Amino acid sequence: MTKAPESSLFYSRSPYKEAFDIEFPNEQLPGEMYKYRCKYCKVLTTDINGLLENHKDGCEYKVLKMLQRSDSAGK
Ligand SMILES: [Zn+2]
Repeated sequence: MTKAPESSLFYSRSPYKEAFDIEFPNEQLPGEMYKYRCKYCKVLTTDINGLLENHKDGCEYKVLKMLQRSDSAGK
């Protein structure tokens, strides 16, 4: 009986860290190790580039953020 080798779990951390704000829910592209996209509008995080404006119109996250912004900016 041979011992099964410990499976490596060292890749649980993102291979790179974005310097900008990416608090929107994102998901990994199927089959693409290093590509992520917005869960709602499916725009690549590299295309969004940390800017809310780069989300598609109608993106759930964008709409929500816009509401929050006008909420705190208004009055
Ligand atoms: Zn989006």
